[in-house]
Amino acid sequence: MTNLDTLKEFLSKPKKIVIISHPNPDGDAMGSSFGLYNYLIQKKHKVCVVLPTSYAEFLNWFPGIKSVLVNPNHKDFILKCIEAADLVCCLDFNTLNRVNDLGEAIRNSKAKKMMIDHHQQPEDFADFMFSDVTASSTAEMVYDFIELMHEGELINKDIATCIYTGIMTDTGSFQFSCTSPKVHRTVAKLLEQGIDFVNIHNRLNNNFSESRLRLFGYSITERMKIYAEYKCALIWLTREDLQKFQLRIGDTEGLVNYPLKIKGINMVAFIVDRTEQIKMSFRSIGKFDVNQMSRKYFNGGGHINAAGGQSKETLEEAIAKFESLLPEYKEQLNY
Ligand code: 5GP
Ligand code: MN
Repeated sequence: MTNLDTLKEFLSKPKKIVIISHPNPDGDAMGSSFGLYNYLIQKKHKVCVVLPTSYAEFLNWFPGIKSVLVNPNHKDFILKCIEAADLVCCLDFNTLNRVNDLGEAIRNSKAKKMMIDHHQQPEDFADFMFSDVTASSTAEMVYDFIELMHEGELINKDIATCIYTGIMTDTGSFQFSCTSPKVHRTVAKLLEQGIDFVNIHNRLNNNFSESRLRLFGYSITERMKIYAEYKCALIWLTREDLQKFQLRIGDTEGLVNYPLKIKGINMVAFIVDRTEQIKMSFRSIGKFDVNQMSRKYFNGGGHINAAGGQSKETLEEAIAKFESLLPEYKEQLNY
């Protein structure tokens, strides 16, 4: 927890503020960032939202999205904003190396740093640190932050829409174990703002292109391997697969969850050749800790049941490495 009085005093006058979230932003990265953005602009701060990579088209509608700066398209301007900022808010990530080359710029900036995040093992870089690994989402924490600032009355329909999207995304539409009674109480208050939650669900979940859905089908029929003795599954995609389905950013989002639908599967890995690097996603149900495995072997991190990582190896090598780890985790995976 952080010194609230200092923060309140700091934010009592208009400041130049940068909000930044993680690469390949998901609904929580976007929802928390634009939730905070729509709060801070009401307080007359000059705010810009920075993203380390572009974002999926199904996320291209948040109130305030027009002002977003995407790296590397706006790199020079982003670096200037970070350098000139009074405050940099880091949302939905907790180590500066997570935002690629922008991490050092943030570290070197004279700006104060604020972290709002719910991932495991935060780095100690922020002047104002809100880290809660029990929170459902960073968006939920943004809601709590505004209340903590005694400004709950500023939570309007725009902010509520953003925050709902983040909570909905990170709770898997209110099904994961992070869905606490408080989440539902918070969501009730968001609904009281008159948000169009049906539309939010449709925008996020029922917005596939035909080729994206065909990619999902192909991945499940042609690229899924089951390791029954380890209660685990893998989906992998090659560069050629991505080309064949004209993959666009965000198109594989959610694919990793599908093998969990198979009875008895406790963990899934999704390994994809993104040309610049091999990217992996891990999901588990129950007690198997994918954050720990991803941290130890794939230069990654995240949560107990949802984590990601990366590798500089080839796709074949990354898959072989993953398979070679399974015996080590056999006991932990069998529950
Ligand atoms: P996803 O698999 O959806 O990309 O990410 C799952 C969770 O792990 C998210 O909370 C995300 O922020 C985190 N995550 C994904 N990739 C990485 C990574 O390379 N490093 C770290 N530290 N976290 C990651
Ligand atoms: Mn999150």
